[in-house]
Amino acid sequence: MARPFDICIRGAGIVGRALALQLAAKRLRVALVDHRMGDAACPTEGHSDVRAYALNAASRALLQGLRCWPDAAHATPVLAMQVFGDAGGATHFDASDTPAQALNWMVDVPELERLLAAAVGFQSQIEVVNSPREAPLTVVCEGKASRTREEFGVEFVVKPYAQWALAARVDCAVAHAQVARQWFAQADAQGDILAMLPVDGPHGRRCALVWSLPPERAQALQAAAPEEFCTTLQAATGQTLGALQLASERQIWPLQQAQAVHWCGQSAHGAWVLAGDAAHTVHPLAGQGLNLGLGDVAELAAVLEARPYWRSVGDMRLLRAYERARKTELALIGGAGDALQQLFSRDSAWVRSLRNTGMRAFERSGPLKAWIAQRAMGMRRP
Ligand SMILES: Cc1cc2nc3c(=O)[nH]c(=O)nc-3n(C[C@H](O)[C@H](O)[C@H](O)COP(=O)(O)OP(=O)(O)OC[C@H]3O[C@@H](n4cnc5c(N)ncnc54)[C@H](O)[C@@H]3O)c2cc1C
Repeated sequence: MARPFDICIRGAGIVGRALALQLAAKRLRVALVDHRMGDAACPTEGHSDVRAYALNAASRALLQGLRCWPDAAHATPVLAMQVFGDAGGATHFDASDTPAQALNWMVDVPELERLLAAAVGFQSQIEVVNSPREAPLTVVCEGKASRTREEFGVEFVVKPYAQWALAARVDCAVAHAQVARQWFAQADAQGDILAMLPVDGPHGRRCALVWSLPPERAQALQAAAPEEFCTTLQAATGQTLGALQLASERQIWPLQQAQAVHWCGQSAHGAWVLAGDAAHTVHPLAGQGLNLGLGDVAELAAVLEARPYWRSVGDMRLLRAYERARKTELALIGGAGDALQQLFSRDSAWVRSLRNTGMRAFERSGPLKAWIAQRAMGMRRP
C-alpha cells in the first residue's frame, strides 16, 4: 500500500510546484493537485506567457537548490536600474554598489514553468493528481482567485488599482546592456508606469515590457496596430532604446493589491495554510509578487523541517509562526510598492514636486538607498 500523503498542495503554478519540490526534498510525501490534467497526464504542456519575472537573489538560491534555475539565455542578470520620474526626478541602482552579482535576474516565465514541471515529474515523493487528497496539511497555492480559500471562508481584502498591466516583448535598436528602466509618467492625468526589462542574455536587444495603464488605454494599446503601438512606446521611453519592434503578442492583466485576513486554519479535513498569490497580491511595479511567493515556500518548508518530531505538519503553532513571519515581509515589500503607486497616480503640482524632489533626495541618500535595494533583492530579512 502507498504511504499516506503528508501534504496536499492545491494549485500547480510556480509557487505550488516549487513548494512540492522543496518539501519532497525533505522526505515529505506530497499530493500536488493540478486541475488542468488527469492523474497520469504530461506536466509539460505548452504556454505562451509573454512575461519575464524579476527574481531576486533569494528566489534564485531557492530555485538553484531545486535545480530549476534557467540557463543564461533565459535568466538575464540586471546590473543596473534607472528610474525616471515625471518632472526630471531620477534615481539609479547599481549592482556594483551592493555585495550581489546582480540587482536581480529577468527570468523567462514559460522556461521556468517548464523546468519546474519537468522536475516534479522526476520526483518520486510527489504524485500529481487531479483532485484533492486527504493529508494532515493542505497548502493552498491556487493564485489570487483561489476557490479553496473561498470554501474555507477566508476573507480576501482586495484593493483594485485603476490600472491594468500590458505586457509584451519588444526588439530594440539599442542593446539593453543589462539595464532595467522604469518610467513614471502622468498621461491623461493617470499614473502610467512603464518598465523595459532586459531579456535574452547579457548581449540581448530584446526587452520584456510591463506597462501599467488605465484599463481603457491598456485595451486600446493592445488593439492598436503594431506600428502605432511602437511609436507610442518609443515616445514613452524617450527614444532611450532607439527604434522598437513588437516581438510577441500583447497580453493584459487587471491589477490589485490584496491580502487574506487569515493565512492558516482548520477545516473538517485537517489544517490548511495559504501561500503565494492565494495569500497576497501586490502591484507588479516593484516586481515582487513571485519573490514573495517563493519567500513563502522557503519559510513554510523551513518551519516544517525544524519542527520537533512529535509535532504534526498540521500543528497550528507552526503554521501561525509561518503566517507571522510572512505578513511582516509582505507589509514591508507590498507596502512600499503600493506607496509608490499612490504617489505617482496623483496629479497635483505639490505631489509632483514632492515625488521628484523625493526621488532626487533618495538618489543621494546613500545608506537608506542601499538598505532598500538590498531588501528588494531578498538579501535582508525583517
Ligand atoms: C504583469 C505582471 C508582471 C509581474 N511581474 C513580476 C515580477 O517581475 N516579479 C515577481 O516576483 N512577480 C511578478 N508578478 C507576480 C507573479 O505573476 C505572481 O506573484 C505569481 O505568478 C504567483 O504565483 P502562484 O503560483 O502563487 O499563482 P498562479 O501563478 O496564479 O498559479 C496558481 C495555479 O493554481 C491553479 N489553480 C487555480 N485554482 C485551482 C483549483 N481550484 N485547483 C487546483 N489548481 C488550481 C491555476 O491553474 C494555476 O496553475 C507579476 C504579475 C503580473 C500580473
